[in-house]
Amino acid sequence: MDTTGTAVNDRMLRTGFAAAAKGTPSHAYIIEGEDERILRDLSDYFIRLLLCETNDACGKCLSCRFLAEGGHPDLIRVTPEKPGVIKVDDIRDGLVGDMSIRPYRSRYKIYVVEHAEWMNVQAQNALLKTLEEPPSYGVILLLSCNTEALLPTIISRSVRLKAMSGGHGWERIPEEERFRLFRIFAGARGADTAGINAAAEQLAAAFPSPEQVIGGLRTWIRDIMVLKLSGAEEHTVIREALPVLRSAAKDYTWKQINDILAVTDTAEERISSGVNTAWQYEMLLSRMR
Ligand SMILES: [Zn+2]
Repeated sequence: MDTTGTAVNDRMLRTGFAAAAKGTPSHAYIIEGEDERILRDLSDYFIRLLLCETNDACGKCLSCRFLAEGGHPDLIRVTPEKPGVIKVDDIRDGLVGDMSIRPYRSRYKIYVVEHAEWMNVQAQNALLKTLEEPPSYGVILLLSCNTEALLPTIISRSVRLKAMSGGHGWERIPEEERFRLFRIFAGARGADTAGINAAAEQLAAAFPSPEQVIGGLRTWIRDIMVLKLSGAEEHTVIREALPVLRSAAKDYTWKQINDILAVTDTAEERISSGVNTAWQYEMLLSRMR
């Protein structure tokens, strides 16, 4: 179990992808960060992956449609009677008592506790009992702005994911280089094979540091995901490319995004072990068509 906290949105999202794809998510996640809206966006995305019938947030299956219409029988949001404190009855009624009922539609049954730091000690102890023996299908998402307020025993039984609002070194790339980078990413959409080859050569020649390209690409995809899942432009990093990002968010399917992220990981590994960089870029860009 990760108790130190995994940094950066992107990493966290990929952890979510991986967990959903493999079909072995943990029973409890603490999604922590300062910005509640980001926590909500990220958890919503994770929920879509987990509940989707093909676990890729396809948007088409009945589960995805239920979610889009605002209600899924296997998604339970624990809401306190009064804001500011989550009491033992809120947890008992909303979570502990319900969890023994098997999911209706999906493989998982998901419980979301926003403001988990509001749980008083009695509420946390009630939750802890469930965390000690969760049913196989139970997944609890604790959204927290202040994890220090949680019992160490809860933290140690959860996968702790830290959501950061920053990019991946995007701000360290000089401005004119950024423009060049995102123009190449944007140009990959709709390009033919020759265009992709040329763009890959251009990337390798213009950016001696693959970290910039890979980091820039992750930021790019992250922004597309943010727009796709919430449309929240204020949460994007690459503001100067908003029109292009918006249209990419409309075009790319979740499957394609998932694919691009997976290929980015592979490319990063191969480049660091000395495989031809331009060739790796070519693979990456061709997934972005
Ligand atoms: Zn689906």
